[in-house]
Amino acid sequence: MEFRLWNNACSSIADVRPPGQSPSELFQTPDPGEFSPFFKDPIMKTFECLCGNALFWDNYSCLGCHKDVGFCPNCEEIRSIDFVEEETWQCRHCQAILSKCRNGLAHGVCNWFLSDQEVAAGESLCWSCRLTKVVPDVSKPHYVELWRKLEAAKRRVLYSLKTIQLPICCDDCTVLPLEFHFKASTPEHLVTTGHSAGVITIQLEEADDVQRETVRVQFAEPHRTLVGHFRHELGHYFWDLLIRGTKEVDHFRSVFGDERSPTYEDAQRAYYANGPQSNWPQNFISAYASMHPWEDFAETFNAYLDIVAVLDTAGALRWIVPDFSNCKTMLTHYQKIGLSINEFNREMGLKDLVPEIYHADVRRKIEYLHGVVRTAAKRVDLATQGLMGEHPDPVLR
Ligand SMILES: [Zn+2]
Ligand SMILES: [Zn+2]
Ligand SMILES: [Zn+2]
Ligand SMILES: [Zn+2]
Repeated sequence: MEFRLWNNACSSIADVRPPGQSPSELFQTPDPGEFSPFFKDPIMKTFECLCGNALFWDNYSCLGCHKDVGFCPNCEEIRSIDFVEEETWQCRHCQAILSKCRNGLAHGVCNWFLSDQEVAAGESLCWSCRLTKVVPDVSKPHYVELWRKLEAAKRRVLYSLKTIQLPICCDDCTVLPLEFHFKASTPEHLVTTGHSAGVITIQLEEADDVQRETVRVQFAEPHRTLVGHFRHELGHYFWDLLIRGTKEVDHFRSVFGDERSPTYEDAQRAYYANGPQSNWPQNFISAYASMHPWEDFAETFNAYLDIVAVLDTAGALRWIVPDFSNCKTMLTHYQKIGLSINEFNREMGLKDLVPEIYHADVRRKIEYLHGVVRTAAKRVDLATQGLMGEHPDPVLR
């Protein structure tokens, strides 16, 4: 089986966890040290133009030197990129010859570039855009603007997966190929955001700020964001990829409960009839998580990727030294950063950055998920180094 890992190649995956050993036992490492005060060294580690100007994730050009800016697949960073000649660019950092993603050229919805190997293989879309199999009607400018927001959020979330080296199944992988479908609702057909068998469908109207905020208020959600939608639906995807039908499922049930009883349909009906479980703040990351173990896992996965993204950025800003191998340290850093930024947000009349409360049950679920992620990343890591060979009992089908 082939799995896409960042850093070029796909790798075969097999379970390396010794029988009976829990994920948290496998990945305990010492604390890397205390939380550093903010602004100890406010120099961006990454995303800096050669002209010295800061570059940001969604930039298409540098505001300092006006060079093109985008994601270099060789550096795996946002870089300033020289236009060489028709259809040819060159990363100013690594000197790789690159091509602009067709979705960027044709529709302005992507700032990623392709390597010359990808172009030689016949590709014209970047790796992120290749995962999008259904796009809205591009003859409608408003749809293109909404699509642009969805692609930007998707790229940001995919980058978080790189941070934790969590593989997805794409390209030639047939186990559970990941696809994104971005669809507009019509008067006859309401598109529902969700995941099914590797396909993540996002309702295009969710990218409309007014509509999304209206729904957020209606459902009394503390946040409702596009990155949150991608993180949540990827939680369902990774449950299917890493847990469904594997020996991991027993461990999952001991932490999240049995997803077979009640059935998802019964749990959903009860949730919308009676509301969330009354004890949800003590036991769940969100009210919605209390509906069913699958939603609990997806909401926990969403929160876990929030943590990864915030710590990655805090690390780039040199506020902390992130340690993505140690869940306890990750939670401690996140809590300290969250409490501080919540105060800034309140000063500005904004909602809290981190509204969730991480009670013991929630922390236990996050620690479990961390173990699942680390095991998957470790399998790919070992496979990439050629240390694995064929494993007789792969956790992934
Ligand atoms: Zn510049
Ligand atoms: Zn580069
Ligand atoms: Zn693209
Ligand atoms: Zn869900």
